[in-house]
Amino acid sequence: MAPAAKARMNQTAAKARKSPPAAKARKSPPAAKARIDQTAAKPRTDRPAAGKRKRAAKPRSAALLTPVHVIDRLAAEAPLTPRRPHGDPIVELVLTLLSQNTSDHNSGRAFQRLIDTFPTWDAAIAAPLQAVEDAIRIGGLAKTKAPRLQALLRSLRDRLGDNWDPAPLSAMSIPEAKDWLTSLPGIGPKTAACVLLFSLGRPALPVDTHVHRVSQRLGLIGPKVNPVAAHDALEAQMPPPHYYDYHVAVIRHGRRVCKAQRPRCDACVLADGCPSAFTFADLATPSPTQKRAPR
Ligand code: SF4
Repeated sequence: MAPAAKARMNQTAAKARKSPPAAKARKSPPAAKARIDQTAAKPRTDRPAAGKRKRAAKPRSAALLTPVHVIDRLAAEAPLTPRRPHGDPIVELVLTLLSQNTSDHNSGRAFQRLIDTFPTWDAAIAAPLQAVEDAIRIGGLAKTKAPRLQALLRSLRDRLGDNWDPAPLSAMSIPEAKDWLTSLPGIGPKTAACVLLFSLGRPALPVDTHVHRVSQRLGLIGPKVNPVAAHDALEAQMPPPHYYDYHVAVIRHGRRVCKAQRPRCDACVLADGCPSAFTFADLATPSPTQKRAPR
């Protein structure tokens, strides 16, 4: 491994070791730090008991607020975390793979154990599958993620060379970089956008479940637009410098207010401009100031 790449991993590991145990997983991995801080991660407590799920309401009309209005209102409610690209797309790819179907907290711990166990990516590739599985077990689905992780790392080394130099990715146009990333094993458009935005600070808008759901409720994307198609659909509606703020603001809003099963429209600063406001069962009656008004 080239000195620069090795230094990046060692730096990450060194930072991790200095962190107090309780805060280790959140503070140490650079990409985890950026993503967890930026989206103000909270435990999901809004999942209803089995058998109590309600149908999601469909937007009743087209969007009343533009994405920039949405950002302005959500940022006025609470400041957004500033963008701090961490500069390591390989770390972002590994973290995103580990974060599938688990919490940010657990995926951060799995990442920490991975880099504690294998000081270089080459070592993680060369290790027996069982050893990788053991290292990431705390993040869940280790049997599935371990082979994917090794396949991803092998593919990256094949493309970037033994020095793991990600510079070619930074030099590509955005469409080229998205194609390059989504042709890696197990990498879809959301992960590709996360890598570009969070590691390289380049304009791309990751659409996760919260961004997709809230954008649909706001009428910014239609009810039949799937998360993959939503990437292009949302990016086309705002200037690229707003992608980061939209992503961060809407994820936070989706976690805290516009929850999947019980959106808190009565506490929502977007309610007067949301075509889906108060269309869900069992919600409080809107106060006069919260009723929608044409904008
Ligand atoms: S008004 Fe309700 S449905 Fe619309 S964004 Fe706010 S919480 Fe979500």
